[in-house]
Parts: sequence; structure tokens; C-alpha cells
Amino acid sequence: MSIFILSLSFIFGLIIGSFLNVCIYRIPAGKSVVWPPSSCGSCGAKIKWYDNAPVISWLVLRGRCRACGAGISLQYPAVELFTAVITALFVWRFGLSAWTPCVLFALYCLITLSVIDMRTFIIPDRFSLGLIAFGLAVSFLNPAFSGGTASEFLSSLAGGALGFFGMWAVALTGTFLFKKDAMGGGDIKLMGAIGALSGAGGVVNALIISSFAGIFYFGVLVLLRRPLDNGTTIPFGPFLSFALMVNLLYPNFILMF
Ligand SMILES: [Zn+2]
Repeated sequence: MSIFILSLSFIFGLIIGSFLNVCIYRIPAGKSVVWPPSSCGSCGAKIKWYDNAPVISWLVLRGRCRACGAGISLQYPAVELFTAVITALFVWRFGLSAWTPCVLFALYCLITLSVIDMRTFIIPDRFSLGLIAFGLAVSFLNPAFSGGTASEFLSSLAGGALGFFGMWAVALTGTFLFKKDAMGGGDIKLMGAIGALSGAGGVVNALIISSFAGIFYFGVLVLLRRPLDNGTTIPFGPFLSFALMVNLLYPNFILMF
């Protein structure tokens, strides 16, 4: 993979990341993602085109609105940079194949739903259920399913069913044991998407990876001495999304053990 194509992928990812930021703010509010153009959340001033370059504008403006000086969230450049790195990484991994645009689309959905989950504690159905449908639709291109004995579509369907109903069983058990809802419906549907996109083995991987990621996250919170109490809500979507990203990067990861 040439440096030129990877650089183009990175720049393409920056631009997509900029659009994902728009989706992150507008989709939970039920607003259009294409109109009107971006404006400052504090003073309402329209963002000039030269202040709208991904990452660079945030650095040039030092994270402040040019019109009113209100702080611009670090989330904007962080999402743009992360999207760019992920895009270049997966183009490097899968090259210019038919699977690459499919996997990138799924990754962009995961990034968006993760940040929405962090902000609102809700994973919109259009992402979780949408990814289940998408996973089934592109299963014939998915390297996770090629070479299997069953057809690609059936492998995807079986993975989706295992993820969805398995996670549902875990959630029911959690509710029974702790007498409160331990897991949201969005997490159950997202696990269905993990199965549809990475198979039954991917579901097992995701349970292991997301658990470790969650434990690591709690460890960091404890080290930082952040207050933790019974009412602390932790969005699980980002951990599940991270696990699916690992599965997508290494489709046969489970076989590596
Ligand atoms: Zn402003």
C-alpha cells in the first residue's frame, strides 16, 4: 500500500470525521444532518469555510469560537483524528477491495453511535439495527465468513442471532441478580450487529475484549480517583464498538488462540 493512497485515506477520514461530528450532535436532537450549515453552539455565528477544516481549524482557533470566544469541545478534533487513523488503518489492512468501503461504512457508524452513547446513554436503533441489516447484506464480501462450511449469509445470520439472544440472556440474568436493568436494549441490538458482521466467534471475542476494556476503563477511573457510586452509568456501546473494530481488523482473531 503506497504512502500516497494512505495519505489520501487519512485526509478522506478527516473529512468524514467532520461529518460524523455533525451527525453526533444532530441525530439525537432529531435534526437534519445536511441543513443548515454548522454554527457556533454558544452565539449561533455561522462557521466560516476557512474555520471548518478538520483538526487544523480547531488548533488555529485554539479551541475557541472566532466570533464569541466560547470553547469548542475537544470532541471535534478527537473524532476527526480518530476517524482519519481508522480509515488509513483499514485501507492499509484490506487494500482497495470491495470489502473496504463496506467495512469503513460500518466503522463510521460505530464511531458515531459510540460518541452518541457517551453523550446520551442511548444507541439509536438506526445504527444498531441498521448494522445488523448491513452485516447480513454484505456478508458475501465479509472475509470473516469466507471459507466457512455454511454459506456466508447463514454464518452472518447465526452470528447475529447468537449475539442478540445471547446478550439478551445476559441482560435478563443481570436484571434478575441485581434487581435493576444492568444493560440497555441498545447494547443487545449492538451485540446482534457484532454477530452479523463478525460471526459467532466474533461474539465470543467481543464479550472477552469489551469486558477487559471495561475493567481497564474502571481501573483508570479508580486511579484518577473519580467518584464511583451505584448510580454511575457507564455507556457500554464504546466498549462493544471497540471490540467489533478489533474483530473487523482481524477477522479470524478467535482462531489465533
Ligand atoms: Zn460563538
